[in-house]
Amino acid sequence: MITEELVREKLQTVNYPGFSRDIVSFGLVKSIEVKGNDVEVQLSIATREPKVPQEIHENAQKALGSIDGIGNVSLNFDIKEPAQPVVGGDPSVGQSSIPGVKKIIAVASGKGGVGKSTVSVNLAVSLAQTGAKVGLCDCDLYGPSVALMVGKEDAQPMATEDNEIVPIEAHGIKTISMGYLLQEDSAVIVRGPLATRYIQQFLRQSLWEDLDYLILDLPPGTGDIQLTISQTVAVDGAIIVTTPQEVALIDARKASAMFRKVNIPILGLVENMSWFECAHGERYDIFGHGGGTVEANRLGVPLLGEIPLDVHTRERADSGVPVCLMPDEESPVSAAFSKLAKAVREKVPVS
Ligand code: ADP
Repeated sequence: MITEELVREKLQTVNYPGFSRDIVSFGLVKSIEVKGNDVEVQLSIATREPKVPQEIHENAQKALGSIDGIGNVSLNFDIKEPAQPVVGGDPSVGQSSIPGVKKIIAVASGKGGVGKSTVSVNLAVSLAQTGAKVGLCDCDLYGPSVALMVGKEDAQPMATEDNEIVPIEAHGIKTISMGYLLQEDSAVIVRGPLATRYIQQFLRQSLWEDLDYLILDLPPGTGDIQLTISQTVAVDGAIIVTTPQEVALIDARKASAMFRKVNIPILGLVENMSWFECAHGERYDIFGHGGGTVEANRLGVPLLGEIPLDVHTRERADSGVPVCLMPDEESPVSAAFSKLAKAVREKVPVS
């Protein structure tokens, strides 16, 4: 027998295009009606992208078509124009800018451990070194590393009388991270809607004041925090960090598909841990080399930088003094970040 539960279960196998979250848990399915063998599903979605409902339609048809003895399936979409502005993180109402912030750049990766936070921190500080006013919001609630990487893990942000969080300043940038709000070793247990509310608060209730660039260090992958951010915040461009080996590149591809689905321009790819140069100047391609170039070409986006595996980078990240503060002549990594900052300034100029 076909039941509402069975239909819901099948719809739970359909993900929002480009993301790892399914359409049921994301609240797109408004009602399910079963009449004998026929099924009618009502869905509601806020998007300007006709391909999104189309893809959901196809995949939902397929999923429901696999039910034994299924009759007519009708999927009705209520497609809304994303409205503006938004506060509070309801992803069905559309993207908006953050007051006082001129440009928002997201740094993403398909998987963890590829150096996304390292790139976020060094890009932010390098941009500040070019004279820009820069903020960095660590959106990785479950593995916040920005506080440590800027050497402020013991700092605790104050709140203003209007309940705005005052960002912690370090190396010329303003930073917000869950790391400031946690006791050492305690894990974040917020999930789902509460997690997205935290992020919205970080983004919209922080005293960023005037910023040229706000860098968002996104969590790895394509989960619900990324989806909420990309649907509620008007992100001007995304940078995808990957390592050269195939397993990382596959995930980088997913991250890029995610941004394309939500119409966020991809500024380019950064290949991290590209090679290792030993003390004798010999070069080792530990994770293979050139994967980033091939993938960038495949995706039709520029390769914005190749960053070697470098002991200073790791040591300086651990000690809270980003490697980009080293003179470019002394560190190829610092030079690579200066180049990246320059590319970002050119691609996303502030007027
Ligand atoms: P992610 O944000 O992708 O999880 P992180 O930026 O936290 O990754 O980096 C993971 C670890 O790798 C950190 O200890 C960091 O210092 C180190 N790391 C990142 N990039 C490099 C590099 N180019 N050379 C050496 N160590 C690096």
